[in-house]
Amino acid sequence: MAVEFAKRIARLPRYPAADSYGNAGELILLASNESPYPPLQEVREAIAAGLGELNRYPDPTNAALRRRLSERYDLPPEQIAIGNGSCDILLALGEALLEEGAELLYGWPSFSMYPHLAAASGARAIEVPLDEEDRYDLERIAAEVTVATRLVLICNPNNPTSTAHPRERLAAFLERIPTHVCVVIDEAYCEYNLLDGGEGALPLLEAHPNLVLLRTFSKAYGLCGLRVGYALCSSPRLVEALNQVRQPFFCNALAQRAAEEALNHVDQIAERVALTIAEREQMAGELAGDGLRVADSQANFCWLELPSHPELEPAELERRTVQRLLAQGVVVRAGSALGRAGYLRVTYGTAEENERFREALRTALAELLKKG
Ligand code: PMP
Repeated sequence: MAVEFAKRIARLPRYPAADSYGNAGELILLASNESPYPPLQEVREAIAAGLGELNRYPDPTNAALRRRLSERYDLPPEQIAIGNGSCDILLALGEALLEEGAELLYGWPSFSMYPHLAAASGARAIEVPLDEEDRYDLERIAAEVTVATRLVLICNPNNPTSTAHPRERLAAFLERIPTHVCVVIDEAYCEYNLLDGGEGALPLLEAHPNLVLLRTFSKAYGLCGLRVGYALCSSPRLVEALNQVRQPFFCNALAQRAAEEALNHVDQIAERVALTIAEREQMAGELAGDGLRVADSQANFCWLELPSHPELEPAELERRTVQRLLAQGVVVRAGSALGRAGYLRVTYGTAEENERFREALRTALAELLKKG
């Protein structure tokens, strides 16, 4: 007889992994919104210095890292949670807040982990379509709040569509949400968001006792391989609940050290972010010049609508485009894996990588639109 699993296993979606893993040869990796820049030298040295102590468990209270973050954001350490990537914090929030009978609200398409929260807890997910410009529809989300709502997720900038709302709009939205409902603003890409000068929704934290800002060292800091994220919370009670539902050593020792060291070099990180933003502007101009529509990106990736094809369905054109890009050594994400067919999500790499992508895309589309 086969092993009998818990019922929720049938509900849980599988994470759509990029095609790049396990491929031989040199690939241009533009599928996972990673930084194209390797970790800073000082960060590598901090990691190397920690190797000799790996016979010890990491600090389960993450004291040093929380202290550094506390200084940086002028927020008490008790209001800062650390995680094995920000995903870990997101899942823990789901566990701490959701259960059968509860409701969870978020925009769609959005980060592929959000549906997981409902599936894992048995809560009901309400997915609110994005607005005409592929941004979160804050009006509609506010209108969907009921007595059963426990958690609202706002991805700003939104993955996969790259769009963002400025802080004032989020502030107005928060005024409409009752304070017993936890609002998480997922700011994984906030360093790239020029609408708020990279500061994100931080100034809103004090006025809203139900607010959590989810951040990560995976993107701008280029440390996704180590797994470390953090949450800036409006109340210590949220941090306590997050830690109650998790295993004690959720963030490894090297990740904690690396993140701490990275915070000593925020100027260098800002220079790298500026390079990516310059690439974003150039890419948007060139793709528009080729007649392609991209959403207004405030992130380190773009959301590109493929042209319509006289015979092929959007999903099929998308599939063939991704295939042809891969054949030319360029890995991007197909929109249908992320919630909408006929689109590509493309991370900005280095200038050379982006140029290779644009050439590969021109070749792929010229062939596909000619052949049908
Ligand atoms: N939130 C969003 C919107 C993301 O796109 C990602 C990563 N793709 C995460 C959270 C999680 O990142 P990590 O777990 O690496 O911190």
